[in-house]
Amino acid sequence: MKEISLYIHIPFCAKKCYYCDFNSYVAPELVPSYLEALKKEILLYRHIKQPIKTIYIGGGTPTVLTEKDLEALIDCVARHFHIKSGAEFTVEANPGTLTRRKLLALKTLGVNRLSLGLQAHQDRLLKALGRIHSAIEFEECLKKSREAGFDNINVDVIFGLPGQTVSDFIETLEYITAFLPEHISCYSLTIEKGTKFYEMREKGLLQLPSDEEEREMYHKAVEYLTHRGFIHYEISNFAVPGRMCRHNISCWKYEDYLGLGAGAHSFMQGRRFYNHPSPLDYIRSISQNMLPVENMEYLDIMEQRAEFCFLGLRLIEGLDKQDFKRRFGKDIHEVYGAAIQKLSSTGLVEEDGERIKLTPKGLDLANEVFVEFLP
Ligand code: SF4
Repeated sequence: MKEISLYIHIPFCAKKCYYCDFNSYVAPELVPSYLEALKKEILLYRHIKQPIKTIYIGGGTPTVLTEKDLEALIDCVARHFHIKSGAEFTVEANPGTLTRRKLLALKTLGVNRLSLGLQAHQDRLLKALGRIHSAIEFEECLKKSREAGFDNINVDVIFGLPGQTVSDFIETLEYITAFLPEHISCYSLTIEKGTKFYEMREKGLLQLPSDEEEREMYHKAVEYLTHRGFIHYEISNFAVPGRMCRHNISCWKYEDYLGLGAGAHSFMQGRRFYNHPSPLDYIRSISQNMLPVENMEYLDIMEQRAEFCFLGLRLIEGLDKQDFKRRFGKDIHEVYGAAIQKLSSTGLVEEDGERIKLTPKGLDLANEVFVEFLP
């Protein structure tokens, strides 16, 4: 039976960071009814018999929940889904919300991977981002996580921040790698509508690094982290051998996943659907015994092929040409011959007998590559 991945969204945070456009709210009063709704949603999908090979509880900040709430939620998942033995089980955590007790509870509940949001080493940058923790609190949290037995930890960083120099960013990389995390995600800041940063930029109050500096930071991350033994395995992700994020890899390989919670997206058997993003709408819908799905679409074959390609190209090893043929019954060149030819001649992709992948130039211009695959 085909295995699937499971994503669970906890849309609550202690405070909204100024750059954040994730589906997250400061609304502690909604937590009890949201968790009840989430448990009911789990019941609505309990007919799913496929083994779950990875679980990812993300947010928001899942660790704003109490140990008791986390235990009830994870227990409900374990009772109603078939979790494969050895499944990867990640929980996202904000250093300002983790206590020793909570870490031990997570470990006991079977969580085997933590994803900690640091973002930057310098406290002045953390403050400018609206983060609730300092670098020292991150250090303490990492230390406590190790003591609780976590041996698979990701640290998130962001580059291209207002007021950040290339040397600030290198210092952040040096700082993080000194703690020997197994995984580092390095994302470039994007300013999204609806965020405080967006408003500030509109008013001319945001001093962002230039495009050249932003690219230099990315190149430094690739150079520095690979030199330190990390494998650069996806555009923005680095891991020590054997510690790549299996959950995200399965999404990039276009495998099925079920998403539960407000705004969570799912991709199952060619259907893409997502839940109401508003926690209130989500709770209301479940309380009326309805699936909280806001939109569902069957992707036609051209859309599926396109998604397969641009997700697969995010992986540094590239997309698997045989896998394309197995899924879609056609050689990839029959479908995208002209696009691949154009991208190869401009030096954005390269291919061998098995794979097509982005070149270093293609990594910088990935969006230009992806549009060539759109139907
Ligand atoms: S902690 Fe994460 S999800 Fe919450 S507001 Fe900050 S960036 Fe957004």
